[in-house]
Amino acid sequence: MIKETKSKFVKVRCAKCKNEQIIFGKSSSKIKCLVCGEVLSNPSGGKSKIEARVLEVLS
Ligand SMILES: [Zn+2]
Repeated sequence: MIKETKSKFVKVRCAKCKNEQIIFGKSSSKIKCLVCGEVLSNPSGGKSKIEARVLEVLS
């Protein structure tokens, strides 16, 4: 069974406070930095647009 592998967790760094956070790369809701509240990821048509710097993609 072939599954899509687009749903991944990504490690991002907040541009504002340099906090590192692991977020779900295909979230349908807005993800904010837990420290300063900066938006890290915005939903856009089923996928998410990651606004922060991606450090690592975790599988
Ligand atoms: Zn932050």
